[in-house]
Amino acid sequence: MQVQTTSSCVEAMSGWYPAGSADVSSSGAGTPRGHRTHPAVIPEPEDQIAMSRPAGHARAADWFDVRDLGGGQLIAEPGHVNSYLLTGRERALLIDSGMGIAPISEIVADLTTLPVLVVSTHAHADHRGGHADLARAHREGRLEVAGFAAHPSSQLVEVDAAFLARYARVMREVVAEHHTLREIDDQSFFALAGLPRMRDLPDLRRWQIPATPASVPLADRQRIDLGGRIVTILHTPGHAPDALSVWEEATGTLVTGDTVLSAAHWLHGSEADLTAFAASTARLAALGAQRALVAHNLRPEMPGTHVRNVAAAAEAVLDGVTRPVPGRDLLGGRAWRHEHDGVVILTDATSGGPR
Ligand SMILES: [Zn+2]
Ligand SMILES: [Zn+2]
Repeated sequence: MQVQTTSSCVEAMSGWYPAGSADVSSSGAGTPRGHRTHPAVIPEPEDQIAMSRPAGHARAADWFDVRDLGGGQLIAEPGHVNSYLLTGRERALLIDSGMGIAPISEIVADLTTLPVLVVSTHAHADHRGGHADLARAHREGRLEVAGFAAHPSSQLVEVDAAFLARYARVMREVVAEHHTLREIDDQSFFALAGLPRMRDLPDLRRWQIPATPASVPLADRQRIDLGGRIVTILHTPGHAPDALSVWEEATGTLVTGDTVLSAAHWLHGSEADLTAFAASTARLAALGAQRALVAHNLRPEMPGTHVRNVAAAAEAVLDGVTRPVPGRDLLGGRAWRHEHDGVVILTDATSGGPR
């Protein structure tokens, strides 16, 4: 795959890509530690960033649930989305930036002083809501952000305010249900013991997710050198056409975005492609991952066998051997619900139903 980039971007990002790595960078000397600015790779949507200040939203300490998973930090917004920080000796990777409800930059700055490349697993709003906050933290010298990376086809446009309002409305009900479930679970079942707890939603009437263009294009099989630690970017379309996964072969860790989840897999909607999803999950299954770090639901870490199960479920749906029932996604959208060995896949309610 050919990737468009600029020479200034390549220069600023030199050292991130190991020699022999494909596509976007020449090899070169590493970026000196302590170097504080990367003007060539930081977008400057000044007015949009100013508008997105988290005033009125949650404090970081009240909103995030941060956990060391061994080889990676979970930065959870429980019940919403899971972001991850992978840290090497010289650089760090923040995989997704979450909802933009609380300043994720404060969490990241607490966890590392290294330059941070922010990678979007795809352009969906819940995975990049913190980009504007991170860009501002960089400009104010509180955090060194080396760039915002995504698949070249990603469009990180401003999110429709009506969608955010609808999300907040629905999730208030989900949070109430969660509190009820936890009370029952704490008393009788303990199935959720130790898992992150959902937080009450703050006032979100001023919630915005502005456009923050990606400055670093990432190609399939692109390797990124974090210093003593190399990860590989994989293009895994299906849930979304620009979906990326991050693979660390040395530890068998696969960060999947929305491609492999512990919750329902969203293969409904205009962007989804079930055939591509089956191919992508088959490709991930063949990696033999030890664990998958997933982007949604309370359980962030799934065993590698789950990746194989999702691939098998995708193939079963594609082959028409599952028996879907009418269902709804988390936000109330209609979909066909397929279940295969405990894996749930939602397909389009207007097509792809029972065959
Ligand atoms: Zn998504
Ligand atoms: Zn998502």
